[in-house]
Amino acid sequence: MLATLSFILAMLASTAFTLKLVKLLREAREQKQRLKKIICRQRAKRKLVEEDLRIAAIAFEAQEGMVITDEHRNILRVNHAFTLITGYHREEALGKQTSLLKSGLHGAGYYEDMGRQLDTNAYWQGEIWNRRKNGEVYPEWLTITAVKNPSGKVINYVATMLDITQRKAAEAKLEHLAYHDPLTGLANRRLLIDRLQHSLLAKSRSNLYGAILFLDLDNFKTINDSSGHGKGDMLLQVAAKRLAHSIRKGDTLARHGGDEFVLLLEELSDNIRETAIETQMIATKILADLAAAYDLDHAEFHSSASIGITLFDKQSTSAEELLKQVEVAMYEAKSSGGNTFRFFDKDMLDIVNTRAALEADMRLGLQQEQFVLYYQPQVSSTGQVTGAEALVRWQHPQKGLVPPCNFIPLAEESGLIISLGAWILKTACATLAAWQKTAGKQHMTLAVNVSARQFRQCDFVAQVLGNIAHYNINASKLKLELTESLLIDNIEETIDKMNQLKAKGVGFSLDDFGTGYSSLSYLKRLPLDQLKIDQSFVRDIVSNNNDAVITRTIIALGQSLGLAVIAEGVETAAQRDFLQQQGCLSYQGYLYGKPSADLI
Ligand code: C2E
Ligand code: CA
Ligand code: CA
Repeated sequence: MLATLSFILAMLASTAFTLKLVKLLREAREQKQRLKKIICRQRAKRKLVEEDLRIAAIAFEAQEGMVITDEHRNILRVNHAFTLITGYHREEALGKQTSLLKSGLHGAGYYEDMGRQLDTNAYWQGEIWNRRKNGEVYPEWLTITAVKNPSGKVINYVATMLDITQRKAAEAKLEHLAYHDPLTGLANRRLLIDRLQHSLLAKSRSNLYGAILFLDLDNFKTINDSSGHGKGDMLLQVAAKRLAHSIRKGDTLARHGGDEFVLLLEELSDNIRETAIETQMIATKILADLAAAYDLDHAEFHSSASIGITLFDKQSTSAEELLKQVEVAMYEAKSSGGNTFRFFDKDMLDIVNTRAALEADMRLGLQQEQFVLYYQPQVSSTGQVTGAEALVRWQHPQKGLVPPCNFIPLAEESGLIISLGAWILKTACATLAAWQKTAGKQHMTLAVNVSARQFRQCDFVAQVLGNIAHYNINASKLKLELTESLLIDNIEETIDKMNQLKAKGVGFSLDDFGTGYSSLSYLKRLPLDQLKIDQSFVRDIVSNNNDAVITRTIIALGQSLGLAVIAEGVETAAQRDFLQQQGCLSYQGYLYGKPSADLI
């Protein structure tokens, strides 16, 4: 019994033991699995860290130079790119201060400002000039980041640096291109205006005068057209070099365009007279320099320039205004024969401005049909009206009736005479058509003034014939008045055009005869019908023997060439009688009637 009991007890005890053992074993297994997991996780973590380190190492050896310093800017690490940029090897840089790279080009304030920004933002980025080990100063794009510990104290600085020498050079090249003329290397118009504006701003604080010289080569177009653009370019280059010799440091020499150069001389003198004299001396020297012979590819060329000059001071207006002034002066120099200079004069600008306004006004006048034709009778020795001369007037809405001498010269210069002349011709033909339908007027001729530019138009003949056909008029009643200067210019073309019109019956009168350079040889070749004695000879014909002789000669010349002769500006019976005695049998002048809008 006892044995059974002890057995049972033993059994119970061993069961409890076994249970305990099983539990222990299970716990041990779980612990092991936990450990395994931890080890696995740690391995993974270490792998990540290793990967990070590997990436960091690659990044550190990237193209950009990198420097890591301690909080006192002592260099702790540099990469290979740092050595390539700065020339310092790792061993030479480690332990040194970053001031090792200072170029000396930035003042203390620059670095203080950088330090302040790093303190507040933990970051600085910008362009900086540093110095390489070989002493060369170079531009660098620098980024600095401050690294802080968890308590916010800076423990390191990490800097990346990019050498921007090449980028800077490219930028400078682009900038140079934008502001310079590629052919001559001189400043271009843009830079000139920049400098001029700058100079005007600076002038507001100075009492010194400056001067602008505007140069235009006189015969450049001829050389360029006849010898080719290559030679033209060479001439410009040599001229630019000669000009560059004439200037002081600080002056601006620019190619304004084509064969135009502008010289900006600043701060000459506080006395306008002295400034003018000094500028005049410079201009004289430039003219002499430019007039010397040019050896272009072993061929000798000659050139000269026209120079416009304007002086400016602190009261001067805008850059554009000054350039306009100096250009006006240059044209003045050019129109007085070239190879000379002219100072700008305010009255001249007023003239130019008035002309510009008049031209615009004329365009409008043409659009709005403000022009009218007046007619002045032409009379025979028996007092019969044989016809009339058409004379244009401008019926201006504000200015009233404007005489042709106030607008014809400008119309010729601006080319407006082409459309104005076309209108005159058309209107005159319409008048002739009306006369030819009116009893007692069918015999009348109408003289129409034709200006050189109008006559030179390649479709001039077609225009005249077109009007004749359109208005169905008798062409022999239309008489075109041409001047001597028009006829001499390109005489073959003139004769050809005149013959084409002559063949259809159109007549020709030589206007203002005696004032030009008529020569008998060409007078004989021209298919003219009439000579018109200029009114300047008629005016004093009775009192001035010279005029009397000239008039007599013209009449005799007309007779010998088989041409009719008409005198214009006949105001008195005495003039008419004298003319008649000499054999001139046609007259036009106030004695018979002033030009009027009424159709005769
Ligand atoms: P022109 O062709 O020599 O015209 C004659 C000018 O003398 C006209 O001046 C006329 O009014 C003026 N005249 C006529 N008789 C007398 C006189 O007895 N005494 C004085 N003192 N003057 C007299 P106008 O009409 O002022 O024309 C001036 C110039 O304008 C013309 O000179 C001509 O060159 C130009 N012109 C006029 N009409 C036209 C036109 O339709 N076309 C072109 N191209 N030019 C024109
Ligand atoms: Ca005339
Ligand atoms: Ca005349």
